[in-house]
Amino acid sequence: MNMKNRLLVFTDLDGTLLDFHTYSFAPALPALNALKECGMPLVIVSSKTRAEIEPLLDELPLTSRLFIAENGSAIYLDRKSAVPPGVQAELKSGYRTIVLGRRYEEVLDALDRTKKICKARVKGFRDMTDRGVARLTGLDIVSARLARKREYSEPFTFQGSEDKLHCLKAELQEMGMTCLEGGRLFHAMGRAGKGLATEMVINLFRSAPGGSQWKTVALGDGPNDMDMLRCADIAVVMRRPDGTWMEYDPEPLQLVIKPGGIGPAGWNESVAALLNELGNLR
Ligand SMILES: [Mg+2]
Repeated sequence: MNMKNRLLVFTDLDGTLLDFHTYSFAPALPALNALKECGMPLVIVSSKTRAEIEPLLDELPLTSRLFIAENGSAIYLDRKSAVPPGVQAELKSGYRTIVLGRRYEEVLDALDRTKKICKARVKGFRDMTDRGVARLTGLDIVSARLARKREYSEPFTFQGSEDKLHCLKAELQEMGMTCLEGGRLFHAMGRAGKGLATEMVINLFRSAPGGSQWKTVALGDGPNDMDMLRCADIAVVMRRPDGTWMEYDPEPLQLVIKPGGIGPAGWNESVAALLNELGNLR
């Protein structure tokens, strides 16, 4: 391996590494295997919970089990990992965990209070059954159960006027939380984000001996990936099932790739091209 060309890859899951409809990563397998063969770490950065991501860690060819869950609320490292001085990390559920968000109970409490103040019609995953979450998200019942094992954020539906939504967002903000807007759901959580967590992981790698050699790549398809894409040397903006790409203004000197393939096919295409370009594929 050429030590000058080490890739550190950050990836979103749904619509990026996983097919938007089938949740399959099969089209990305050649590049996933090549990454592993070259010893390059792949970091999952998702809105999904730890419980949803763990089964994927067993299925994917990976060199490291480091991942970022619940939209950047927590970074899960190997329990033996060292963290730089000044970084708080706790041993929990077999991981060394860096918590950037707020505890689920605190998030629920803030959401409850906000709901009352704004008299808003809000329904969170806590208020739903596994079956209800499955119906709402299109996940199967097992995955829906895992999606309800929340630690730091609460997805919710909201029905009401723009004014009420504005009230919700402002009150959550006031309580030190944030409200992210997804495709069909809103997410209440602490003031974390995929970008902040990604930046922290990049710093962990770069502060290790020889760390300046890492070239960083981020792949994502949606607005909540924007700040993660901004952290990397190379941003890969994924093609969506409707054939379009999200609008993205690159950072100065940043290389942007817009693959032709959709979801995992585009993932395969861009990561293989990058490995090739850096001379890691023979
Ligand atoms: Mg996505």
